[in-house]
Amino acid sequence: MNPKNVLGNPTKLLLLFFSIFILSCINNNANNIPVLTSKNDSAKLKESIKVIVDSNAIKFERKPVNYDSNKTYIYLTFDDGPGHGTMNCLDVCKKEGIKASFFMVGKHANDSWGQQTVKTIRNAYPQFLLSNHSYTHTNEKYVYFYSHPLMAEQDFYKAQESLNVPYKIIRLPGNNAWVTKDKIRTSKLVKPVCQKLNDAGFNVIGWDVEWNFTKGNSFPVQSPQQVAAQVKNAASGQSFTKKHIVILTHDRMFRTPEYANWLSEFIKTLKQNSNFVFETIDNYPNLKF
Ligand SMILES: [Zn+2]
Repeated sequence: MNPKNVLGNPTKLLLLFFSIFILSCINNNANNIPVLTSKNDSAKLKESIKVIVDSNAIKFERKPVNYDSNKTYIYLTFDDGPGHGTMNCLDVCKKEGIKASFFMVGKHANDSWGQQTVKTIRNAYPQFLLSNHSYTHTNEKYVYFYSHPLMAEQDFYKAQESLNVPYKIIRLPGNNAWVTKDKIRTSKLVKPVCQKLNDAGFNVIGWDVEWNFTKGNSFPVQSPQQVAAQVKNAASGQSFTKKHIVILTHDRMFRTPEYANWLSEFIKTLKQNSNFVFETIDNYPNLKF
C-alpha cells in the first residue's frame, strides 16, 4: 500500500484507523479479555472484574497487629529475586508453613518467567509478601547510585510500579538502613535518598542477622545451626526493634537441593522455639501505611 494514496484519501484513512483499532482490540483480547457477544456477556465481564479488584483490595487492606509480649517475631527475608533459588525458597517455606518476605529487583523480572514468579509471590499474600529492592540493584555501583539521590529515588519508584509492589516497603541494595514511622538509622551515604523515600511515605527495612554467602558462588557461609544461634542471640540481645528479628538471606543461596535442605533445617531449628513467630515484614512495628 502506498502511504501517499492512503493519506490523500479521507475514506481510506478512516478505514486504516478503523482496522488498526479492530486489530488492537483483538490483541487485547489475547490478554484474557473475553470477546463480548451480548449484553449478558458484558454484565458477566463487569462482575468478574469487580471480584478481582475487590479480592485484591481486601487482601492488602491493613489490619491492626496485636503483638504478644511473650513472643519474639521473626521476619525471614529473601533478596535479589526473582531468580535461581526463588522457587526453592517458596517451596521450603510452604512446606514448613511459615511466612516470609521477598525483596525483588525490577530488572530481574523482565522475562515472562520472572513476571510470573513475581505474580506468584504477590498472590501468595498473606503467607508471602512481595517488597521493593530497587529496579537496577544500583548496577552494582553502590556509591555512585546513592550519591545521586534523585536518580536512586526514581529507581525505587520504577521497581514499585513495574513489580506492582503492594506496600511502600523497600530494602536498599547493599546497605543496612532503616526508616520507619518514628526512627531513621542510616549511614551518611544513603541518608539523602532515605529522607526522600521517607517524605514519600516509604519504609526502609534493614536486617539484624545475615546469613552470609560465599563470594564466588553465593552459597551459604554459616551452617543452619550457626545462623539459628545468631537469631537466638539477637532475640535475647540487640536488634533494631526489641523482640523483632529481621533475617537477611538471598534466594540464590538455596538454588541447589542440598542448600534448599539447609534452609529447611534452619527453619525447623527456629520452629523448635515455641516463642518464635514468623511474620511478613509488613507486620513489623511502626511502619507507615
Ligand atoms: Zn540485593
